[in-house]
Amino acid sequence: MRIAIVGAGPAGLVLARVLHRHGIPATVREADASPDARPQGGCLDLHTGSGQRAMYEAGLGAEFEAIARPEGEDHRILDHTGTVLVDHESAGTDERPEVDRADLRRVLLDSLPAGTVQWGRRLTGVDNPTSGRRLRFADGTTVECDLLIGADGAFSRVRPLLTDARPSSAGSGWIDLGTVAPGHPAADVVGRGSFWAMGEERVVGGQRRAGGEVGVSISLRVAPGWGAAFDVADVPELLRGWAPVVRRLVEAAEGPAVARELMVTPVGMTWRSTPGVTLIGDAAHLMPPVGEGANQAMLDGLELGLALAAKPDDPAAAVAAFEAEMTARTTPIAEESARMQAMLLAPTAAQDMARFFSRPAVAAGAGGPRPGGGGPDSRRRPRSGVDTA
Ligand SMILES: Cc1cc2nc3c(=O)[nH]c(=O)nc-3n(C[C@H](O)[C@H](O)[C@H](O)COP(=O)(O)OP(=O)(O)OC[C@H]3O[C@@H](n4cnc5c(N)ncnc54)[C@H](O)[C@@H]3O)c2cc1C
Repeated sequence: MRIAIVGAGPAGLVLARVLHRHGIPATVREADASPDARPQGGCLDLHTGSGQRAMYEAGLGAEFEAIARPEGEDHRILDHTGTVLVDHESAGTDERPEVDRADLRRVLLDSLPAGTVQWGRRLTGVDNPTSGRRLRFADGTTVECDLLIGADGAFSRVRPLLTDARPSSAGSGWIDLGTVAPGHPAADVVGRGSFWAMGEERVVGGQRRAGGEVGVSISLRVAPGWGAAFDVADVPELLRGWAPVVRRLVEAAEGPAVARELMVTPVGMTWRSTPGVTLIGDAAHLMPPVGEGANQAMLDGLELGLALAAKPDDPAAAVAAFEAEMTARTTPIAEESARMQAMLLAPTAAQDMARFFSRPAVAAGAGGPRPGGGGPDSRRRPRSGVDTA
């Protein structure tokens, strides 16, 4: 069977790896010209039941442990005046350690036979949409396959083969301000893990990466179409009256600033199972970025790979069973992610989050979306010695 995976993100690469482990050949076509063609962004916290499970069951447990940073679970929440509401120090439980996205991609790529990923192959169209498929790429090439798997993210070119649903605005935007250099004093407030300052329907985030630099971002409520109108010169005005410690962090970020409107697909999006084509990851369920998207994408890759390995003679049945499982698993997570996103951008976000994190420890550690880690044996200090002067 000729299996074509489109997209070398977490979903597509985990799938390729799991298929390889089961002796099933597959080729990944990726639009990026090379593995280093663009920055991979910041960190991801990989959860035990999803992202971590995918790594261990893909036979990459040791490689995952080598790049995982349990101390990255530390997190601090301030309100916009600089009052520390949560100061959580990781107890090293490894429940949700952080990994740099670039490290994760490298580990997954290194686990595949040479030539499995073809770079610079942007899918532009698919012919014969009801039988064996012919894929067309931007470089003018074509290839035929028996099973097409769209792991091509938010604006999937494979998705329209299965559903008319389109991504729509999540009502929020994300400004990536770049990083603050390792050792810069303005980033001390971030500590070893994540930092959020919340208020006035926006959140300033800081995340320590493996090299010591800190990625800085702002998320905020926006009207549809906002991204095109964004001007980095507006950032100081967004934070007028905010605590100096927050503004210093933002000012120290070296850019370049990139703004994008966040999109979502309809919660619980389904399609009639169609032999020869399916979707995984963001292509299948694009949800607000509150810590679940990549984890569920990796679990999709694992589950689809295992389903195909279990039924090599009946891929259509394997895909149909996988799709039902994926929808049942991700729909409640997408609902909860939307609720979390609304909470983060509410006028009372800082206080709401402080209450959220002061829930009974077992409940707080039980999984599901939340901006950062924190397990049952975490230590949370409602007021700390963090210097926010
Ligand atoms: C700001 C932000 C922060 C986030 N933080 C977190 C977090 O902390 N934790 C978490 O779990 N999730 C997080 N997410 C979500 C996470 O990034 C995604 O859910 C995850 O990357 C989805 O993986 P994927 O493989 O499905 O898609 P992607 O990672 O989007 O990968 C898709 C791949 O397909 C390629 N591609 C696209 N179109 C084509 C085409 N036509 N032809 C060929 N290749 C194509 C792309 O170049 C890309 O490499 C965040 C998202 C955002 C926007």
